[in-house]
Amino acid sequence: YDHVVQTDPEVFSALAQELGRQRGTIELIASENIVSPAVMEAMGSVLTNKYAEGYPGKRYYGGCEKVDIVENLARERACELFSCSFANVQPHSGANANLAAYMALIEPGDTVIGMSLDQGGHLTHGSPANFSGRLYRFLSYGLDPATETIDYEGLERLARAERPKLIVGGASAYPRTIDFERLAAIAHGVGAKLMVDMAHIAGLVAAGAHPSPFPHADVVTSTTHKTLRGPRGGLILTNDGELARAIDKAVFPGTQGGPLMHVIAGKAVAFGEALQPEFHAYIDHVVENAAALGEGLVAGGLRLVSGGTDNHLCLVDLTPASVTGKDAERLLDSVGLTVNKNAIPGEPRSPFVTSGIRVGSAAATTRGFTAEEFREIGELIARAVFHAEDEATLAEVRARTAELLECHPLYPELVMR
Ligand code: PLP
Repeated sequence: YDHVVQTDPEVFSALAQELGRQRGTIELIASENIVSPAVMEAMGSVLTNKYAEGYPGKRYYGGCEKVDIVENLARERACELFSCSFANVQPHSGANANLAAYMALIEPGDTVIGMSLDQGGHLTHGSPANFSGRLYRFLSYGLDPATETIDYEGLERLARAERPKLIVGGASAYPRTIDFERLAAIAHGVGAKLMVDMAHIAGLVAAGAHPSPFPHADVVTSTTHKTLRGPRGGLILTNDGELARAIDKAVFPGTQGGPLMHVIAGKAVAFGEALQPEFHAYIDHVVENAAALGEGLVAGGLRLVSGGTDNHLCLVDLTPASVTGKDAERLLDSVGLTVNKNAIPGEPRSPFVTSGIRVGSAAATTRGFTAEEFREIGELIARAVFHAEDEATLAEVRARTAELLECHPLYPELVMR
């Protein structure tokens, strides 16, 4: 950081403060992770200088031979990782990947069924505030109130009645295994296509810790920065040659201009890392640690939506502690635990307040936290929210969090001066 410190002390100061913040908190936001120094190097490389509209071998600019090597590596590794024949690695984000996939699959005004935002779905799965809800006729499915797991029967009834063109699987706040085979049977049974947005669980799918959406889904979209542990970005996969051509057109020129070649280099590096046996071991720990975190939360007196977790996250009902998600988020931040507020099924409060929090194990597992420590973190969260007004207890939780953080230094080789 020798250059930015000299030329732009204001930005440098914010960067250094952010490194300090990341070092000083246990990151439990389920959609975040910590990339390797190799991924960061690729992101901060000369590839940011290059325009490369088009695809490898068919660009609208000269001088693309070297970036073609990078994009081909990213595409080949993505296909190997997810056992499919086609990958478009250009979407700038998960939302962009979904926008392009919809453009390839359906026409404006078509009927689509996705998981509702307040039951665990994503904004891009049909929220009226999002392009998806404005361009398409989105209907939603959700959870069975008794089990708090996906109501596949309800979805099937809705699909039979409405005959959608597309069903969207995948979620942002769902702690259980998703049955892609069943989703595909429902979709294909009414003549619809199935698109799976596996953004949250992509790392688990890559490592075999969650069933793959292939061969069931027609199209799979993802982010690359959650459990997959790559740079911020998106990805679209398929095994269907005709859809592959439509997807390439929908990404460029349909919805994007020049690809972010430095980010694609970061994706290539991250996919290469995810192909290594160490990544499988990492994901095994992610799943084990989320379960341990859940045990600690329950031992501390809180309730887990659906009663537990099969993946990298827990959805926590704070009702027993009589504290809102919004207040818990602020309170936990003050003791060194970063979480986000989240609606729970049947949420009585507004999305800005909520009655729950979402916690995940991906980032802190990268940092080296063990299952025993995750169990303790769950208990610390519960202690803090049950003693929200008790400064002495909160000080104890803060001190213990600091001790745990010291055992797991973040980017120890990174010096910002
Ligand atoms: N899809 C799902 C399931 C997500 O959880 C998210 C992000 O939280 C996205 C898509 C959007 O990704 P991005 O924030 O990169 O646009």
